[in-house]
Amino acid sequence: MTAQIIDGKAFAATVREKVAGHVARLKDEHGITPGLAVVLVGEDPASQVYVRSKGKQTVEVGMNSFEHKLDADTSEKDLLALIDKLNNDPQVHGILVQLPLPGHLNEDLVINAIDPSKDVDGFHISNVGLLGTGQKSMVPCTPLGCLMMLRDHHGSLSGLDAVVIGRSNIVGKPMAQLLLGDSCTVTIAHSRTKDLPDVVRRADIVVAAVGRAEMVPGDWIKPGATVIDVGINRIDALEKGEGKTRLVGDVQFDSAVKVAGAITPVPGGVGPMTIACLLANTLTACCRANGLVEPE
Ligand code: NDP
Repeated sequence: MTAQIIDGKAFAATVREKVAGHVARLKDEHGITPGLAVVLVGEDPASQVYVRSKGKQTVEVGMNSFEHKLDADTSEKDLLALIDKLNNDPQVHGILVQLPLPGHLNEDLVINAIDPSKDVDGFHISNVGLLGTGQKSMVPCTPLGCLMMLRDHHGSLSGLDAVVIGRSNIVGKPMAQLLLGDSCTVTIAHSRTKDLPDVVRRADIVVAAVGRAEMVPGDWIKPGATVIDVGINRIDALEKGEGKTRLVGDVQFDSAVKVAGAITPVPGGVGPMTIACLLANTLTACCRANGLVEPE
């Protein structure tokens, strides 16, 4: 048996297409253009790549993109002043502060300074609380993308056993909340979990969000399970030549694909869905801000 490959790249393209359609209608019918402000502090190379990609895709779906690049030594006071300005700017419907921030800045303080209704990353404490209590919130983009792929594949997730490996605030915990919201029986595993292989073997759905290259081998996977690999790890690719690297997930794709029922590849799985969901969240924030019906 070979697993069905869940094509996140193609799925993300359909999400972006839908968003673009709604954006065009908002402009035509209401004269409103959704706007996303992205704030980057410092010059972390990976963050620069993400920010560029986010800006490009924002413009491609017809939204306004506002990029704010600040020096690495920007003070907390100046960063908070910028966030305050963006909170009060009616052209800006979504605000994203690219993480990680340089060490002298308090991430919690900065994220919680964002107006929760513009917090398209869903990291503000209000949105975390709303999600945890099953109320309407801004949902973190990566887990939202994973949930969309799972719903698309399974239809209903009700009653399925799900294991989320990783308990970070940006992926693991909100992922577990979303799966619980869809009536899965959820286990959250982490670095202190005893007998992780056994825990994973029970699961109909495995979401791996650890950041350890290929740590989940195929023989941990229950036959027919759905595997969502969030991990993005760069490893040496000696087969491509000295100094070359390639991206792999947290799951050993080659062995897992022989056991799973469906699996997301890395790259081309969860990654593309994350930015597509950011755009969808910005559209949602814009509709809410203007008292308009939210797109599904
Ligand atoms: P964090 O480092 O914040 O969290 C990693 C989690 O994995 C922690 O909860 C940690 O446990 C757990 N963990 C570490 N080692 C083990 C182990 N041996 N066994 C079981 N659990 C373990 O990472 P993130 O959640 O931010 O990201 C996870 C991965 O997802 C990374 O590769 C990241 O690059 C990727 N990512 C991908 C995105 C995308 O768009 N595709 C977006 C965001 C992240 P403990 O809490 O006990 O330390």
